[in-house]
Amino acid sequence: MSHLKGRHLIEQSLDRFDSVVSRKELRRALRVADAIRERMAGRVLWNVNSTAVGGGVAEMLQSLLRYTRGVGVDARWIVIQGSPEFFRITKRLHHALHGSAGDGSDLGEKERRIYEETLHRDGAELAACVRPGDVVLLHDPQTVGLGPALLRAGTSLIWRCHIGADHVNEEVELAWDFLAPYLQEIPAFVFSREAYVPSYCDHGKSTVIRPSIDAFSAKNRDLDDDTIRTVLVHTGLVEGPPPSPAHHEFEREDGSPGRVEHRADVIRLGRPPTWETPLVVQVSRWDPLKDFLGVMHGFASIVDGEAPAKAQLVLAGPNVTGVTDDPEGEAVFDEVHRAWRALPDSIRDKIHLALLPTADVEENATIVNALQRHAAVVVQKSLHEGFGLTVTEAMWKARPVLATAVGGIQDQIEDGVSGVLLKDPRDREEYATALRRLLEDPVRALRLGEAARERVREHFLGVRHLLQYARLIERLDEAAAR
Ligand code: UDP
Repeated sequence: MSHLKGRHLIEQSLDRFDSVVSRKELRRALRVADAIRERMAGRVLWNVNSTAVGGGVAEMLQSLLRYTRGVGVDARWIVIQGSPEFFRITKRLHHALHGSAGDGSDLGEKERRIYEETLHRDGAELAACVRPGDVVLLHDPQTVGLGPALLRAGTSLIWRCHIGADHVNEEVELAWDFLAPYLQEIPAFVFSREAYVPSYCDHGKSTVIRPSIDAFSAKNRDLDDDTIRTVLVHTGLVEGPPPSPAHHEFEREDGSPGRVEHRADVIRLGRPPTWETPLVVQVSRWDPLKDFLGVMHGFASIVDGEAPAKAQLVLAGPNVTGVTDDPEGEAVFDEVHRAWRALPDSIRDKIHLALLPTADVEENATIVNALQRHAAVVVQKSLHEGFGLTVTEAMWKARPVLATAVGGIQDQIEDGVSGVLLKDPRDREEYATALRRLLEDPVRALRLGEAARERVREHFLGVRHLLQYARLIERLDEAAAR
C-alpha cells in the first residue's frame, strides 16, 4: 500500500493577475515564466508536505502550484502519511521551533527512531518516483528527513521551513539539534524571515521568501454582500432569512459549480448574531499558540455589561476531526469550550465557537472568506506565528486587523497604518483596550482596512512568490553546474 498521496492540481494562467498587479509587473512575470518553463522542460517540480488541508502550507501549495502548472511546469504535490505517534512528534518539533514546549515530551533517540522509520519508508517510495534532475521542495520538519533518500536519487533539493522563532531559547535549540543531521547535505533552504535562519543552516544556502495569498482562490476572491450573507446564514453563523438561494453557489477552481451545503457546528447560548451585529472574528487552527483563550477572555473583559458597539465574538476553526497532522486540535477546542462554559451567561451569549466543515476544501474556504469579509475586526492574537496567512487574508479583504507583533505578522502590518500591532502577545489588557478603540472608531477601522489591502497588493500576492522560486531554481542549477 502506498504511503504517499498525490494531490490533484488544476492549471491556472498568470494572465488573471492583470486586474490586481501593474502591467509592467505582469509582463515581467510572464517573461520569467517562459524562462522557467524552458529550464524545467522534461523535469518535475515535486512538493512534499504532510497535509492536504488545514493550515497555511496546504493553503499556499494549493494556489501556487496551479499557477506553476499553468506556466507549463510539471508541478506535483505529494502528501506523506504518518502514524499518530509520528505526528505527535512532529507537532512537538513544530512547537519547539516556535520556542515553546508543546506537550513537553522528549525529543530523543526513541522519537528519532519513529521519525526516521516513517520517513525511511516514504523516502524509498518517493525516490522510486523521481528522476535525476527533478526539483524537490520539502516543506517543514515533517518532511526534512526525506532529504537523504532524495539526494541519493539525484534530485535538486530545497527544504522550506515555514516556521521559526523570533528569539532562540532552549526549545528552539532542541528542535534544531533534532533536525541537524538531515540538514547537512541539503543544498538550499527557504525561510519566511531572516530571523528564522538558524545557525545550523549555512546562510549562503538560505533564501528568504515571504509567503503570499492567492487573490482569486475561494478563500480570497471578492464576494458580494448577498453571497456573504447567504453563506453565513446557511452555515448558521449569522441569523436571518438568506437573501437568495442562488447565492449558496460558488465557482470551483476548475470552473465547475460548487455549493455551500454543510453547516458549521456552532456552540452558543442563544441565537446567532444578526447581520447588523459587528463581529470580532479570529479564524485559526485550534492550536494553543493561536491563544483562543486570550482572545475570548480579553473580549469578555470589555463586554461585561454592554459590548462596545454591541459587538459579538466568533472564534472559528476547522472541525476538529478534519486536520490529520494536528493531533492537538480536539484538546485545544475542548479547553476553549470549557473556558466558555465557565463564563457568565451575559457574556457567553455574545461569544460563538464555530467548527467549520472541512469535508470540501473549497466550501470551507468560501465560508472562511465570507466570515472574514463580514468581520468588523479580525483578530490574530497568536503567541508565536511563522507568518500568519490569516492576517494577510483579512488585510486583503480590507478588514482592520488587530494582531500580536510576533513572527511574520510584524512584516505584514505597519502599526497604526495598515492594522494594529499588540506589543506583548500575553498582555490581555493591551489587547482589550486596542479592541475597544477599534470597535468604537469605525472611521479609523475603515482607513486601516483600506491601507491593509494596498499593502497586500504590493507585497503579498502570489506573483512575487513565484518569481522568487523561479530565481531560486535557476541559482540551484547554476550551483550544480559549477
Ligand atoms: N484555515 C481554514 N479553515 C479554518 C481555519 C483556518 O481554511 O477553519 C486557514 C486560514 O484561512 C489560513 C490557514 O488555514 O489560510 C492558516 O494559516 P496561518 O499561516 O494563519 O497559520 P498556520 O495554521 O499555518 O499556523
